[in-house]
Amino acid sequence: MSHVFPRHCKKTIPTAVRGAGCYLYDSTGKAYLDGSGGAAVSCLGHGDADVIAAIQKQVADLAFAHTGFLTSEPAEALADLLIEHAPADIERVYFVSGGSEATEAAIKLARQYFIEKGQPEKRRLIARRQSYHGNTLGALAAGGNEWRRQQFAPLLFDVHHIAPCYEYVLREEGESAAAYGLRAAQELEDEILRLGPETVMAFMAEPVVGATLGAVPAVEGYFKRIREICDTYDVLLILDEVMCGMGRTGHLFACDADGIAPDILCIAKGLGAGYQPIGAMLCTGEIYETIKNGTGFFQHGHTYLGHPVAAAAGLAVVSKIVGDGLCDRARRQGEVLSKALHDQFGQHPHVGDIRGRGLFQGIEIVEDRETKTPFDPAKGYAAKIKTAAFDAGLICYPMAGTRDGRAGDHVLLAPPFIIEDNQIDELIGKLATALEQVIGADPAAV
Ligand code: PLP
Repeated sequence: MSHVFPRHCKKTIPTAVRGAGCYLYDSTGKAYLDGSGGAAVSCLGHGDADVIAAIQKQVADLAFAHTGFLTSEPAEALADLLIEHAPADIERVYFVSGGSEATEAAIKLARQYFIEKGQPEKRRLIARRQSYHGNTLGALAAGGNEWRRQQFAPLLFDVHHIAPCYEYVLREEGESAAAYGLRAAQELEDEILRLGPETVMAFMAEPVVGATLGAVPAVEGYFKRIREICDTYDVLLILDEVMCGMGRTGHLFACDADGIAPDILCIAKGLGAGYQPIGAMLCTGEIYETIKNGTGFFQHGHTYLGHPVAAAAGLAVVSKIVGDGLCDRARRQGEVLSKALHDQFGQHPHVGDIRGRGLFQGIEIVEDRETKTPFDPAKGYAAKIKTAAFDAGLICYPMAGTRDGRAGDHVLLAPPFIIEDNQIDELIGKLATALEQVIGADPAAV
């Protein structure tokens, strides 16, 4: 009997024993094509010799030094490298151990910043429905995924949610993308005015929505308008790039494609590429200086922040992404993946939308393409597609949809940047098999 507490207590799952390139292997020798990098984590694939060597060297030189006393060379070097490529005005990096820690830290930093500026009444956070910012209580409160929040709702602080920028469902018939983007952004201004600008500290959003919508970028112009609104009302813009950052969309920082810079930026997943647990919260020099010139102490911290081995892994990963031109590669292979998805599913009666940026792509599954009507969530298609794909040797990331009152399912794809064209063909073939097995078996869906 295993004493591990698994995610799904009623299921027995295979034991992973090895990873190489785009594949994972279980103890029976079965290979799985890692079509989603787990959950957009394994951007370099498995078994990368350079990252492994960097980790081995660091663990031998210095495994741990508490950041209350000492900094470390890899943490300093990784911060320098990130800042060299970061959006305008982002000047400081605070290392944590994962995505939820990064978004929690961002919320607390926003709060402390306004206290130190002498505006303690600025305390409210606005975020978006159908978003995910992590599973710890603050991060969960920020997210707008009802399924994840439901049972913990009594424990969560009040966050105000507006609609996401979700063109496929929310753009109206005859409305231009530009007009829709402005209308979606207007919800932020309306909400700030409703709450009172003097009480709103920050707006948090994912530049490309990952887990909850399935690789949905905003329409052009949306984030530019969001930036203007935040500036007008002295509201901090927190971008959560935990999933979509670190080259995944073809840009090291996803917001580069939207032509804007945030005040606080969260990254994780691809930063450690699965080799070490590491995340980071980046902020502007203005925020840092305000705290430096005030109390001089960010009232936050975890034992493992700035962990030297995790930082060494992150340094090796980001050096490789930047040095080997892997953002360009993610963009190029993203085009190959997007074309293959359109070729295979473009006319599929139950694939309503294919979207994404770079190697961050999603398909939305609907009962009726014309009306965009989703399947009844009780059919549990997302979970069934995940199982059918896994049985066929493909790891992908299907999720039950959470459209307001009209839940639709989607499948998220985020393979390693090193994926080759023939592996993209394999991915598409296995996904098509899984869809056929699950939806093809539904007489009502024919
Ligand atoms: N933010 C986003 C956008 C995410 O997708 C996730 C995880 O999926 C998180 C935050 C939380 O990250 P972690 O699971 O590393 O705590």
